[in-house]
Amino acid sequence: MNGSIVLFGPPGAGKGTQAKRIVDLTSKPQVSTGDMLRQAVSIGSELGLAAKVFMEAGELVPDEVIVGLIAERLKENDASGGVLFDGYPRTIAQAEELASIAEVSAVISIEVPDQSIIERIVGRRMDPETGAIYHTKFNPAPESISGRLIQRKDDNESTVKTRLSAYHEQTSPLAGWYENQGLLIRINGNQSIEDVGDEIISHLSN
Ligand code: AMP
Repeated sequence: MNGSIVLFGPPGAGKGTQAKRIVDLTSKPQVSTGDMLRQAVSIGSELGLAAKVFMEAGELVPDEVIVGLIAERLKENDASGGVLFDGYPRTIAQAEELASIAEVSAVISIEVPDQSIIERIVGRRMDPETGAIYHTKFNPAPESISGRLIQRKDDNESTVKTRLSAYHEQTSPLAGWYENQGLLIRINGNQSIEDVGDEIISHLSN
């Protein structure tokens, strides 16, 4: 597959968790706008300061900010054979912009019902040393590292509700947009992490 792959789905669908297997299979680098924005917030850059209020409220960061971030990232050498986008594009405007600067070969839509999302997100934890994502119940971390796990500031119940509304209003219309282009691959995200991964890999290996 020469172009880029998009990992698409609501917050907590498992995009970040599945990204690693796709990276191993395709050797395309993972480009997560959420990770890039959190990095910008943590170093306190101008971009980070602009993004922080939106992120903490659970709203989308304005398209202009995201478009600039992606344009810079795609100039790097490792992006020349396509990348794995995680959490991008999130609006039709972002998808149109992406279509004008890169080729998208497949859109993997990880589908999870709303009722499962809150429990998935509120129990989510991250290892700050490796970036690995765990869940207190569904995917517990080894005891040796459990003391260093952190919880994202926006992974609380009230912010998740805003993030879900943003997803339904601004992001989910993209599924139809990509479906019309014959690029959308629907994956049942409501099964074990391994089974979701196997389903994704079987589509990408064809
Ligand atoms: P994520 O880690 O993908 O859940 O993203 C965390 C937060 O970063 C989101 O709730 C948004 O505030 C912001 N964000 C990440 N990616 C985008 C994007 N492509 N467009 C707009 N906002 C984004």
